[in-house]
Amino acid sequence: MEPNFREQPKGFATKAIHAGQDPSQWSSKCIVTPISLSTTFKQRSPGEHEGYEYSRSGNPTRNVLEKCLASLDGARYGLTFSSGLGAEMAVFSMLSNGDHVVVADDVYGGTGRLLRQVISRLGIQSNFVDPTDLLAFESAFQSNTKLVWIETPTNPLIKVADIEAISKLCRKRNVVLAVDNTFLTSYFQRPLELGADLVCYSLTKYMNGHSDVVMGGITTNSDDLFGQLKFLQNATGIVPSPFDCYQVNRGLKTLPLRMEQHQKSSIAVAKFLEAHPFVEKVLHPALASHPQHQLTLKQTYGYSGVFSFYIKGGLRHSKAFLQNLKIFALAESLGGYESLAELPLIMTHASVPEEEREKLGINDSLIRLSVGLEDVEDLIQDLECSLLKVMSL
Ligand SMILES: *Cc1c(COP(=O)(O)O)cnc(C)c1O
Repeated sequence: MEPNFREQPKGFATKAIHAGQDPSQWSSKCIVTPISLSTTFKQRSPGEHEGYEYSRSGNPTRNVLEKCLASLDGARYGLTFSSGLGAEMAVFSMLSNGDHVVVADDVYGGTGRLLRQVISRLGIQSNFVDPTDLLAFESAFQSNTKLVWIETPTNPLIKVADIEAISKLCRKRNVVLAVDNTFLTSYFQRPLELGADLVCYSLTKYMNGHSDVVMGGITTNSDDLFGQLKFLQNATGIVPSPFDCYQVNRGLKTLPLRMEQHQKSSIAVAKFLEAHPFVEKVLHPALASHPQHQLTLKQTYGYSGVFSFYIKGGLRHSKAFLQNLKIFALAESLGGYESLAELPLIMTHASVPEEEREKLGINDSLIRLSVGLEDVEDLIQDLECSLLKVMSL
């Protein structure tokens, strides 16, 4: 039986293809958004220009992408940055010395590193709390808490946080809620609809989807937050290149098609693994065995290709399993057309402090997959062959 997610309203694919991209805005009426490489723009008289003055402050190709991103999230505003972490840097740069952040405990490794090793030096402390335990999460708020940062599902343990419930906690205290929506994309989850103030993306992953651009994005409905972030985008210089903006814009056109296939294949692969004797446990929110399965069905429109599982045995087995794969590439990152597999303990989450990793369950048998767009039969066969080899070790 297929899981019963929220029903996707009509119109998403049309927005992905057309939003911000009306050909009448270009003098040539070209259908495909041009890559505008000029760093500077001619002015009518000093300080009087036609919308663009210098390419860091604003660029026509970037502007198209930002409008399209906003439209996909049902947001008033969209902004892009040189990377996902660049977008996060802009969000954290809105804070001042003495402010406090509550963060979901198993966020992207780089987010934890940025907060623990960079932002903390500016006198901004953060507490890492399990976002699925609402009472614990609420008790981490302090009088100086200004921002809550969650990622749902979390990474790599695929815990699902209740965005609406957390947004109510934040609203009561006037705290900004930012949701990292990289894993599900605007197609499967739209946090602004559930009360979030900011949605952040590593566009590097599914939104671009072709593993050939590093970029970040933010969407919001708030005039105030947009104003601050737009200022920081220009003032700190963390902007993407026009060529990369073109690429992401192009990638977005097939987002709904890609995500539908990622979903189908990842559910099939997860079911295969769940039934396999050498697999200890599968962490996939579209399966009934996942602790937040019902919450997932309630707040999302579907599920992507990223999930994790525990293989039986120890490091010897997980390493051999990863090395024996032929189609899944052993690599960091996720969200591209190609299937990837990795060991978070040693790869993406090596920067998480050891005792924190142990507490979370990031151990030597935890494997994260990003199920790509290859034929799912081939993917399952690849996993099956590798598991078979490892079982006899
Ligand atoms: C990759 C990733 C980031 C960081 O994005 P970059 O584009 O690599 O800087 C942030 N959050 C999540 C969930 C990610 O997967």
